[in-house]
Order: sequence, then structure tokens, then C-alpha cells
Amino acid sequence: MNTVDILKMLCLAPAPSGYEKECAKVFYNEIKDYVDDIYLDKMGSVIACIKGTEQNALNIMVYAHMDSLGFIVRKIRDDGYINVDRLGGIPEKVLPCCRLFIRTKDGRFVPGVFGNKAHHASSPEEKYKVEPVTSLNIDIGACCAEDVYRLGIDVGCPVIYEPSFMELADDKVCGTALDDRGGLAALVIAADKLHRNRPKCNVFLVGTVWEEFNIRGAVFAARAIKPDIALGLDVILAGDTPDLSDKYQNSVGSGPTVNLYNFHGRGTLNGMIPNENLVKFAEKTAHENNIPVQRFASLGIITESAYIQMEQNGISCLDLGFPARYTHSPVEVVSIKDIEALGGLVAEMTSRITPEFPLGRYEL
Ligand SMILES: [Zn+2]
Repeated sequence: MNTVDILKMLCLAPAPSGYEKECAKVFYNEIKDYVDDIYLDKMGSVIACIKGTEQNALNIMVYAHMDSLGFIVRKIRDDGYINVDRLGGIPEKVLPCCRLFIRTKDGRFVPGVFGNKAHHASSPEEKYKVEPVTSLNIDIGACCAEDVYRLGIDVGCPVIYEPSFMELADDKVCGTALDDRGGLAALVIAADKLHRNRPKCNVFLVGTVWEEFNIRGAVFAARAIKPDIALGLDVILAGDTPDLSDKYQNSVGSGPTVNLYNFHGRGTLNGMIPNENLVKFAEKTAHENNIPVQRFASLGIITESAYIQMEQNGISCLDLGFPARYTHSPVEVVSIKDIEALGGLVAEMTSRITPEFPLGRYEL
């Protein structure tokens, strides 16, 4: 199967943070034929392993998250409209008139939309004002609260953007949750390459949970795997839209990224300054395999690696990314080439790592 087909299946799987089953199913089925061992851990992560050839093989964990951001039902109104809180970093500007899927108590998905005050009845001020998510109403077509309950929807049910996927010009695709289904597709591509060219070390390819919720879902898998080296795969902010071209240097379609710095200050106070050996190793491996790579560094971002690096007595971590436009909106845009090159880079890096790979940050 080609990358577009895999990515499409992953994007169309409805999997709000905390309810990752549908995406886990697709990821499990797509990767299982390439790996020696695969299991679902009790938190819902999918852990696949390709065993290394060396006796004293290191454990390398490569991961991408399966969940997507969304909302949580907070109140069902007597008139049948539904109010929500956010689950993850929701861009409130894009919400009115969004198509939605509400997950029922028995795991089905019911369609709905965020309403928007009739344009003809909106004052000029209202037309340019962004409403907070808490004041929006979801319309599922119900006439009253009883209708809503009858469909299996209640307080606490998660809501996501209606899953979608479409191919654009060149090699671009647009869809929901390309953050981080693109990372999962790269894991499948890497597994396909590694099973044809067995690595020296044990490579664990992991689909994680909870990233959009609290960024710590990957920690459970790391505690089970006890990795010596961890590589995180996730979107980075594309720098090639007119509104960000003065801020960032990368562009969609110019290759995966090696991420040199991220930091999230608002209460989280965590981030990543990667192991420099891993940075140099990633760039050298890319160069020697003619894989174009870009560098990325930004404030305001955090990945699961921020927490994984603190496990055991410290884990050597590096984040690798792929540029995505319009992050966290329902129309994220990425390049298929970037995702394929990211999968290729992961396969090359993990197959080159020997048991002697330096794990410390430096030597004296
Ligand atoms: Zn992500």
C-alpha cells in the first residue's frame, strides 16, 4: 500500500485523546506484518518491536501519538444544543461552522456542527469577533435534551473535527489530525524498511496516547521499554505560509526536520534541548543517504520527549519532525515526500546504531 493510502486511513480514524482505539486499530494492522512482536499496553499504546542482531543490543524507542485534539461535552441544553470545553490546544478562530463527530457512550460517532449566528443578523462588530469555545453551541439536529441522550450522548463524551482527508496539488495532502498521523505513517514506512534490513539494536515503534491531553502518554511505554535512545516524531510549524515566512526557516516539501529546541512556559515549564550526538548523527545519516533535512527551533511547543528524557537516569532523546501548515485546525497541510523521507531517515538511523553508540551528552 502506498503512503497516501496509509495516511488517509489513519486520518479518517476518529480517535480523540483518551479514546484512541480506532486509530490504534489502523496502526496495529498496518505495522504488524513488519515486526517480530506487537502488543497493546494497558493504557492503549501500541508497542511494536523489531529485534536487533547484536547480543548486547541497545533499545531504541521511536514514537508518534495516535490521539487528536477536540472537545468534551460539558452541558446538554434543554433545547438539544450541546456545550463543550476544549480538550487540547484548539484554535477558536476556526471553530464556527466546523463539522464534528461526537463519540457516544458506547463508542459510536454521531455527526454535528458548531453553529454560527446567522450572517444576515450579525452586526459589523460580531462579524469580526472570535467567540470562545465555551460559548459555541453544537447542533446535532436534536429537538430537545431527550433526543441527545437517546443517541447515547451525555456529559463527558469527547468531540472531534469530522475526520477528513484530501489530496492537493504537487505532493501535498490536507486533513484532520495529520498531527500526528503523519508520524504514525512514518513509523509504518520505517518498519517496512527495517524488516527487510534487520537493525543491530532492538527498535520499538510505538503509537502513543494522550499527547494532546497532557503530553505524558508516551511515558508509560518508555517505562516498559526502558529505551537507551528515544526518537519522537511529530509535526513542526511550517514556515512557508505568508503569515509565518518571516518567523521560521523551513518549508513543506523540503524534508523532515531535526528539532534543536522547544520550550513551553505557560505552567508546563518543560521542553527539549536534544542530545548533541544524536543531532549530529541524524544530520550525518541524512546527508550520507541524500535525505534533505531542515533544522527547527521554536518556543511555545512541547513534545512527549520532554517527559521521556526524564525517565530512568535520563534518556538520550531527539525529536524529528515534518512541517505542517495550519496546525491544530481541521485543514492541516503536509507533504507526502516529507513523511516518506522521515520514515526513511528513522530506518537509516536506527539500523546504523550499534551497542557502542555514545549515550552521554559529552565526554571530559
Ligand atoms: Zn502532535
